[in-house]
Amino acid sequence: MASSTGNGTGADRLVVTRFAPSPTGFLHIGNARTGLFSWLYARHHGGKALLRIEDTDKQRSTQEAIDVILDGLAWLGLDFDGETVFQSQRADRHAEVAYKLLEAGRAYKCFATPEELAQMREEQRAAKKPMRYDGRWRDRDPSDAPEGAPFTVRIKSETTGETVIDDAVQGTVKVRNEEIDDFILLRADGTPTYMLAVVVDDMDMGCTHIIRGDDHLNNAFRQLQVIKAMQGLEEGWEEPTYAHVPLIHGNDGAKLSKRHGALGVDAYRDELGILPETLFNYLLRLGWGHGDQEEFTREEAIEFFDLSGVNKGPSRFDMKKLLSMNGNYIRKADDRRLAEIAAARIGPSADVDLLTQAMPVLKTRARDMNELADGAAFLFKKRPLEMEEKAASLLDDDARTLLSQISIRLGSETDWTIEALEANLKAYAEELDLGLGKLAQPLRAALTGQTTSPGIFDVLVLLGREESLARIDAQANG
Ligand code: GLU
Repeated sequence: MASSTGNGTGADRLVVTRFAPSPTGFLHIGNARTGLFSWLYARHHGGKALLRIEDTDKQRSTQEAIDVILDGLAWLGLDFDGETVFQSQRADRHAEVAYKLLEAGRAYKCFATPEELAQMREEQRAAKKPMRYDGRWRDRDPSDAPEGAPFTVRIKSETTGETVIDDAVQGTVKVRNEEIDDFILLRADGTPTYMLAVVVDDMDMGCTHIIRGDDHLNNAFRQLQVIKAMQGLEEGWEEPTYAHVPLIHGNDGAKLSKRHGALGVDAYRDELGILPETLFNYLLRLGWGHGDQEEFTREEAIEFFDLSGVNKGPSRFDMKKLLSMNGNYIRKADDRRLAEIAAARIGPSADVDLLTQAMPVLKTRARDMNELADGAAFLFKKRPLEMEEKAASLLDDDARTLLSQISIRLGSETDWTIEALEANLKAYAEELDLGLGKLAQPLRAALTGQTTSPGIFDVLVLLGREESLARIDAQANG
């Protein structure tokens, strides 16, 4: 069971982790990574991975914002255990804990008015002292306060000694208790503060491991004050193991901003065309390593993941690496699955069977699903083809004459295969003493309306004889 050092990971305790995102309108990739680590740690240890939505900010916590998180997690394949906990529904329980602490003398009522507190801070600022609540009601008799005056409930933090956390990522971290002020548990309107809500929920959910961003490390020292104070009052308030994971930085070392890729998981899927297995693997590798292995299956990730492999320093987000990894995953992915994703991007004209058939060719170059869908769009264009400007400019009179000759030659080709078509057009290029490229350029424009496409013989085969000849004839002089 838990020891008093803050490293309560008795081998006999079932591992319980939680991921506790706040609905902000998007599942930021930094958060998604913490969610992934929490989930993997629980799966690795055969424990439970719980999900809690910290929806106490009523304005931001719309159903839509909550769905964005749930969708993103489901897309990444992170299936959490049990019912999702909604923090906003637990305010009564949070208040109950505050009142237990109050009754036990581990918390107290503070009647300081907002004006008084502002003045206190002003004086501290002027004296260049650390700005924190000075404990003015800590030992004062509540009957000193005017009848019916509003009050907050504050924790009676320890004032001597130090609080030590044996963080599974950061190592041993200490804070002198005098630096931890008597922070508020319940506001004057009776609502719980974030600091209280988080720790009550963590304990009620039975969390043994708190894996989260290192921007919460300071909170851990405060949350531990509540845990210690509750230990004599209720069962089950055992110090969890903390693992504060360093934040993600941009590739230039600066704080991750939108420019570097600080986007929501949905933007990676929809705007950037990333596959879920790519993002899963990329986030896994961002700040965690296992030898020099770069790509992990889900099963391998579960088998190998441990907190000892999490780096202490911030990791750098590298969009180029993500895209190149995505290309590798696209090439490995099932053709029909890719066809379905691409079809959804192309729209109603797309035919999944044809896309599946074309996929071995299409997927050889694409780095993301947008590129893949763009590269496939020619298959579904209707005649007369809409021409990209560059493609249209290739189709001058000479090119159109050439196309009519090609049409005649290919029209009598009986073997519509890559090999036969290639032999046929190569022979023709030689006859004309032209490079094959000179032939392929107008042909590509006529067949696809574009100047880039899969290999020209692939295009001919994928379109089939009839459609290819019709597209060529539509551009030929004849
Ligand atoms: N809701 C917090 C956040 O999204 C996380 C709180 C925690 O993990 O303790 O940053």
